[in-house]
Amino acid sequence: MQIQKFEAAVIGGGIIGNAIAYYLSAENIQTAVMEANEVGGKTTSAAAGMLGAHSEWEEFKDVYSFVADSHYQYDSLSKQLKETCGIDIELKKGGILNLVFSEEEKRKLEAVMKLPSVQWLSKVEVYKAEKHASQEILGAVYMKDDVHVTPLSACNGFWKGALKNGAQIFEHTMVLEVVQQGTGFLIKTTNNSFYAENVIIACGVWSNKFFSEAGLQHALVPVKGECLSVINDKMPLTKTLFHEKSYIVPRNNNQLVIGATQKWNDWNELPSFGGIQEIMEKAKSLMPEISTMRPHRFWAGLRPQSFDKRPFIGEHPETKGLYFAAGHQRNGILMAPATGMMIRDLLMERSVNKDWVNAFKLDRVEKVAEGKGVLQ
Ligand SMILES: Cc1cc2nc3c(=O)[nH]c(=O)nc-3n(C[C@H](O)[C@H](O)[C@H](O)COP(=O)(O)OP(=O)(O)OC[C@H]3O[C@@H](n4cnc5c(N)ncnc54)[C@H](O)[C@@H]3O)c2cc1C
Repeated sequence: MQIQKFEAAVIGGGIIGNAIAYYLSAENIQTAVMEANEVGGKTTSAAAGMLGAHSEWEEFKDVYSFVADSHYQYDSLSKQLKETCGIDIELKKGGILNLVFSEEEKRKLEAVMKLPSVQWLSKVEVYKAEKHASQEILGAVYMKDDVHVTPLSACNGFWKGALKNGAQIFEHTMVLEVVQQGTGFLIKTTNNSFYAENVIIACGVWSNKFFSEAGLQHALVPVKGECLSVINDKMPLTKTLFHEKSYIVPRNNNQLVIGATQKWNDWNELPSFGGIQEIMEKAKSLMPEISTMRPHRFWAGLRPQSFDKRPFIGEHPETKGLYFAAGHQRNGILMAPATGMMIRDLLMERSVNKDWVNAFKLDRVEKVAEGKGVLQ
């Protein structure tokens, strides 16, 4: 049988792999995605879908411009994907209320409050906006631009968009080995072998095998997050309630997504009783009446974390045509558009913001002993 050839093969069909395929195929680059399971079925489908360009960051320097760009791409993507593929990514506006319970917490949010789109709301103003928020608060930081999408729908939008652009997606096709051959790569999978001029590894937390085979000493660590959803048919919530990385996100249907635990180096993909109990307690402290709502679903996913909590996005320092885009930790949904565009631009040898190239380069090394490198 003849081996199928592509200009670019993306390994991994989560939101990052599909966003890359979407932007490459839009440039008429013959692209394939090889996904071991089902498109979006791993960490992507576990996400809450917040586009937390402000709620997730404490510093607003080099990487902030990347996440902010990515965030604002969703506005046009939402229209494009609906028009061209009929997929509604359920972009929901309303913003995030970062609840503040003490002066100390308020001080920690001073940097974000300096941004023009961010505003301090007194306790009274918070209740006017969301009357079911906790009575214990001092006030809240309102991040009006931090909207959210339904992650699997966004991933499906990129997938269908890529298909429409001519890309091919192979599900249930696990890549076993990528071998340099001629000017490109032979890709051995559990089904067929393929050949591609360029290969992009986007396997989330499962990228470690490819890092080590490419001679890169990186180990992404899973940070397990457990979530649950409840049915909310009587207490309308228009804004996401957020506090110290816990949240209640109102989806377009009458569900609230509540998350999430952070269990470092836990590879188990199933939710635990203790984990769900922990997030239910936290959710009650943000919105006490949530305890009267009907539970709907429990789940868990593995966030891929690098040593400095930044993703690796770039070309291998020695092997031309081999790229990585993995390690997006808590913000892979947010960063998917910018990641897809950055890989596209690198592969097409267009200019890319130098701060981003440096922040995400593959040969950066851990400097734990000097206390450097860690973002937050
Ligand atoms: C509870 C929770 C809440 C979150 N909330 C948010 C949020 O609100 N906002 C946000 O921006 N982010 C959020 N995230 C983070 C976000 O989900 C991730 O950063 C993002 O999904 C990573 O996408 P990915 O494509 O890199 O990984 P994945 O979605 O895991 O995709 C990787 C794919 O690679 C495939 N694969 C692995 N090995 C192979 C192989 N050898 N061959 C072929 N395919 C392979 C896997 O099957 C998988 O489908 C959350 C995560 C969790 C767990």
